[in-house]
Amino acid sequence: MSEHDLVRWRREGATHILAAIVPGHFGQQAFASTPEGACVHQGTPGHPNDCSIYATRGETCRSFEAGSRQCLEFRRRWLGAPGAAGRAR
Ligand code: SF4
Repeated sequence: MSEHDLVRWRREGATHILAAIVPGHFGQQAFASTPEGACVHQGTPGHPNDCSIYATRGETCRSFEAGSRQCLEFRRRWLGAPGAAGRAR
């Protein structure tokens, strides 16, 4: 989570986003996870894989390329096969 994102969310009054931040790896901050290990912002009504804060998501999320090698590896490991759980945004 970048300082730029934190400042932007404070400026936007996005208290629900700021409230979901927890200590992450390597001394950084991250979004809290669900018991299943998903980001707490994952899921919108009728679209369980969509991001509920997509328009204002952070730099880390914006830089993650859908369909990239990293993305496909994650989908293989956690979803069983590429595209197994529907579309990714
Ligand atoms: S894109 Fe959205 S759901 Fe995915 S990790 Fe980022 S904030 Fe969470």
